[in-house]
Amino acid sequence: MTAIVVSLPNYVQLLYIVAFALLIYGMSGLTDPRKAVRGNRIAAVGMGVALVATLVIPHIGNWGLIALGIAVGTAVGVPAARMVKMTAMPQMVALFNGVGGGAVALISWVDYRSHGSSFGAHTVHLGLIDVHFGAVPTYVAIFSVGAAIIGSISFWGSNIAFGKLQEIIPGRPISLGAAQQPVNLILFVLAIAAGVDIVAGAHSELLFIGMLVVAAVLGNFVVLPIGGADMPVVIALLNAFTGVSAAATGMALNNPALIVFGMMVGASGTILTNLMAKAMNRSIPAIIAGGFGGGGAVAGAEGAGEHAGSVRSTSAADAAVQLAYASKVVVVPGYGMAVAQAQHVVKELASDLEKRGVDVKYAIHPVAGRMPGHMNVLLAEADVPYDQLKEMDDINPEFQRTDVSLVIGANDVTNPAAKNTPSSPIYGMPILEVADSKSVIVIKRSMNPGFAGIENELYYDPKTSMLFGDAKGAVSEIIGELGEL
Ligand code: NDP
Repeated sequence: MTAIVVSLPNYVQLLYIVAFALLIYGMSGLTDPRKAVRGNRIAAVGMGVALVATLVIPHIGNWGLIALGIAVGTAVGVPAARMVKMTAMPQMVALFNGVGGGAVALISWVDYRSHGSSFGAHTVHLGLIDVHFGAVPTYVAIFSVGAAIIGSISFWGSNIAFGKLQEIIPGRPISLGAAQQPVNLILFVLAIAAGVDIVAGAHSELLFIGMLVVAAVLGNFVVLPIGGADMPVVIALLNAFTGVSAAATGMALNNPALIVFGMMVGASGTILTNLMAKAMNRSIPAIIAGGFGGGGAVAGAEGAGEHAGSVRSTSAADAAVQLAYASKVVVVPGYGMAVAQAQHVVKELASDLEKRGVDVKYAIHPVAGRMPGHMNVLLAEADVPYDQLKEMDDINPEFQRTDVSLVIGANDVTNPAAKNTPSSPIYGMPILEVADSKSVIVIKRSMNPGFAGIENELYYDPKTSMLFGDAKGAVSEIIGELGEL
């Protein structure tokens, strides 16, 4: 049997080039929130062109099945993407990413079957004659097997990540304890050994299925011990895995679209993983080893610990006065603002203050919320001018000149323990240095901790006053009080 190398017609190659150009141009728009939506659309058109180009390859396959697949995918994907809440986006990404990895693993399996399970050269003895079969080129077999392993890990790992974020599975680390890493290593070695055997010409579909199963167990075992707080980073990492596995399938199938799109996903997923890990001051090996963020909320209002009793609460009326007479206000949004969907009233408050001559800026921490860019997206949706959004490194020196920092549903990203308390789990994480400002108003519902599950020293600072309540309700009340002034 000889390898089937599909040579693509010129018009398909041309369409692919157009698709790549659109994808790259679209992705470049994602670096600027003002161009991001347009960039996303352009990239989606690029993806559509690549899809059409693939479908017009001669002898593509069973049109009925293809149409059915497209119909099912559209029926599930479009409503899901439209209905998902912004705060549930990480698990949505996990789910979609997992599907990509699963598809890659299945394609590799089909590829293996279509090559008659003969990845290695072999000879069959037929009586007096030997029949020599040519092999699928070794590199094709290696890419196909590699794609199957990585795709399977990614599919199962992403499903676990989805389950944890959706709280179907407990967010805390679930592991075999000290045995976990050795077991994972054994599974990894087994998957690789099976892969090598297949590439070398083992003619056993059962072995291929066994390899997929071992990789599946490994995918589960790698993600289960990781705590919920690290999940978005894990999803970015699995995203990179899926991209690389898709590119490997592209090599195996001689399909440039899969190679280019897969590598772009692989590269951007890797960059994103690094950026997120850096913003949380976590190393990727430490995340994979698990632990952080597994505890969930630990201290309630009554669990204010050694600081109990030293918190100052304020009212919407007092907050309005404080804000109205400030000359510089920095709004610090966080996950709570996203949950409360308070971005529109926050923008309204900022506009009211600006009409009174107050200089208003927004301080954006790279991991505020539950996914990278979460705050930028929400505030852009509320038409906050982009030049008012200040990145952490740009705004931090400005806090000393800030009269009031208005912290809205943000917690961990403002916690001075990250700077002052070496024993804190978030020690070393870069934070927004709101404690440097002349006064701080914090809007949240209770003294409950944020995602990292730790108390926030900021709330006990004499400069800080707490306005307890839902972010949207509290900000609306302040707007009402401002109108009375
Ligand atoms: P936090 O999770 O630290 O805090 C959010 C706060 O919002 C809570 O303390 C909560 O307090 C308050 N809150 C919740 N609902 C409401 C509401 N309706 N109205 C008012 N307040 C509300 O969020 P941050 O944005 O400060 O920090 C993000 C956290 O997520 C960090 O720990 C970060 O490391 C982590 N993370 C972020 C990732 C990213 O990419 N962005 C990725 C992975 C992790 P209360 O219950 O008292 O109201």
